[in-house]
Amino acid sequence: MALWFDPAEYLVGGRWQGAAASLPAEDPSTGAVVAAIARGGAAEIDAAVAAAARALAGPWGRMAPAERGRILARLGRLVEERAEDLARIEAGDVGKPLAQARADARALARYLEFYGGAVDKTHGETIPYLAGYTVLTLREPHGVTGHIVPWNYPLQIIGRSVGAALAMGNACVLKPAEQASLSALAFARLGDEAGLPAGALNVVPGLGAEAGAALAGHPGIRHLSFTGSVATGRAVQAAAAANVVPVTLELGGKSPQLVFADADLDRALPFLVAPGIQNAGQTCSAAARILVERAVYPEVVARMAEIYGRLVAGPALADHDLGPLISAAQKARVGRYLEAGRGLALAARGRVAADAPAGGHYLAPHLFADVPPAHVLAQEEIFGPVQVVIPFASEAEAVAIANGTPYGLVASLWTENGGRQLRLARALRAGQVFLNTYGAGGGVELPFGGTGQSGHGREKGFEALRGFSTLKTVAAWHG
Ligand code: NAD
Repeated sequence: MALWFDPAEYLVGGRWQGAAASLPAEDPSTGAVVAAIARGGAAEIDAAVAAAARALAGPWGRMAPAERGRILARLGRLVEERAEDLARIEAGDVGKPLAQARADARALARYLEFYGGAVDKTHGETIPYLAGYTVLTLREPHGVTGHIVPWNYPLQIIGRSVGAALAMGNACVLKPAEQASLSALAFARLGDEAGLPAGALNVVPGLGAEAGAALAGHPGIRHLSFTGSVATGRAVQAAAAANVVPVTLELGGKSPQLVFADADLDRALPFLVAPGIQNAGQTCSAAARILVERAVYPEVVARMAEIYGRLVAGPALADHDLGPLISAAQKARVGRYLEAGRGLALAARGRVAADAPAGGHYLAPHLFADVPPAHVLAQEEIFGPVQVVIPFASEAEAVAIANGTPYGLVASLWTENGGRQLRLARALRAGQVFLNTYGAGGGVELPFGGTGQSGHGREKGFEALRGFSTLKTVAAWHG
């Protein structure tokens, strides 16, 4: 596949340019370095923020909403046309199975279609007020927005954050993750083709401690969207606070699925496993904890174990159930959790494909049963293909266990009891609750975000358009 961008260049103010330093881009399926990417730092971020500010003072800032929408729709169609290439770039860079990368590329196109179509349907209100007054509210862009993106779902996360920010008329500075920057660059090139004016989207790859920290603490940005770890989220929020910049934090999770004895187990079973090992478990909304009512506990564990017995980890392009982990460091991190789980009951493990290259960061998926809720494996986000199963005896105990971590991203309930569905949907601490499903196809339309250590703010759906804009109240006295 011929790349339509130079991986060593970054984009500022409509100009692609080479950086003074570079970083290696590794293929996690083989461990081989496949490209050099730009290593931007404070100077490049400065230039990007200045270019974004110029874009707001120029054609981008003056553009009619419908025209912005047309550009986003065009960009969405270009993403669709190049979806196969984008998927192969993403699969190679992240190590995710090709089918998943294809779904990610389609999701990016859908974000652009959705937000492109929403631009001219998002408006303020008039507010009834005192005699002699007319009061109205205006939805306005923040200005220059910063977007710090992780390596696990670059295409999707760019869609949900940059897509919504551009729709509302902000000018964006995007800092992709050092482990997976290629699809961000590919996307930005398509932005040029779609007719995004210079400076509306700027992309500066680089290290978190360099380009990332420079962007988070930059006084020229007016809003920051961060997706990544809790530790970095704290640092980013503190840096933004120094400039009183609002922050959306999409952090990790330890999301539970609650399976009651009256559940339709035939429907539930595939949903219990797939979102736990998707992207090799490197998903913020991974189904990390499976809580099962005691009456069906042995059956659920046995049936999950049966599925695990068939799971294979292998090279991304060979499209197995899961790919490698992103890096040797991530594999070592997950390995430390497996060490911590030595005393636990290992219910099942999958396997690594026999022909998986030795340099790749493969790890067989692991299923632990009878895990005490306070155990480190049931409390901390592992970010690898590891699930824990925990029995419960009552609804109250299930809720206590489900809510018993510092996180609150998503949760699901498997039960045919309607009263319990709504009672527990309210009782669970999570930004999204699913009833008899999990993820619901990842809907672009569905507001997403966490509570507690999973973060704050919402992306996706119309909610994101509110987050990526600010409200101005205009009160006019006319007598
Ligand atoms: P990370 O938080 O270190 O990195 C995420 C992004 O932040 C990258 O672009 C990185 O370069 C940047 N960054 C790092 N340090 C920075 C700093 N000081 N200032 C500004 N930016 C900085 O994440 P990671 O360790 O690479 O990823 C693994 C963890 O991230 C997982 O354990 C998981 O908890 C979390 N995660 C969450 C989500 C989500 O959607 N909620 C998605 C991906 C990863």
